[in-house]
Amino acid sequence: MTEMRRLIAGNWKMNGVGSALTEAEALAEALKAGPAAMRVALCPPATLIERLARTVEGSAVEVGGQDCRAEASGAFTGDVAAAMLADAGAGLVILGHSERRSFHGETDADVAAKVGAALAAGLEPIVCVGETLEQREAGQAVTVVQAQVAGSLPDALIGKAFAVAYEPVWAIGTGLTPTVEQIEEVHRAVRAAMVERLGETARKAPILYGGSVKPSNAAEILNTPEVGGALVGGASLKAADFLGIIRAA
Ligand code: PEP
Repeated sequence: MTEMRRLIAGNWKMNGVGSALTEAEALAEALKAGPAAMRVALCPPATLIERLARTVEGSAVEVGGQDCRAEASGAFTGDVAAAMLADAGAGLVILGHSERRSFHGETDADVAAKVGAALAAGLEPIVCVGETLEQREAGQAVTVVQAQVAGSLPDALIGKAFAVAYEPVWAIGTGLTPTVEQIEEVHRAVRAAMVERLGETARKAPILYGGSVKPSNAAEILNTPEVGGALVGGASLKAADFLGIIRAA
């Protein structure tokens, strides 16, 4: 496995129709003119993956999905298989996002099964973990994320390219962010749990921070020890904001 570069990934969530591709185009153009020091990816809704992949073709912008089914095919109305994402042009996939865990009841075991499916389809998983406000206030942030890491990362990841994203649930879309000391503490704990689960090769996988990252706080967050990039929601929808984060990194 080659050393992984830092990664800034944009999660468009359930936002965007064809007209949003102009933002992807602007991002790709800007990165052609002034390449980023890090890997940059956009994860649009599944309906836009193929068109977005064509839009950014030849640029440094990579493309990802936001979820996949653990099964390879079958009677699962409305779901998307990992191989379908890859066929549409995705190279990465976000798995276990807190919105999937809360709105769809996904467990760590579900996430681990999806990771296996993603790897089998040649996709690079970005596995999300993070505590709720209640859990943080109860002093459980570290134990919660370590348990999520232990349960969500299958053996199949050993030696493979992947990332973990630490996304405190209370920081997603709220404008709230942990202090850099809190981010560093949890990222170190996530790293320890990754190494315990998968062995020393897990040191090569970046740990992204996610939760209200914007151009004004990106430099401080991205320069925190053990922060290997960012998973960005709202601020990835506009090329100018996303570029502000990429340039700050
Ligand atoms: C996310 O949902 O992954 C996220 C980090 O969202 P936001 O940046 O909007 O907080």
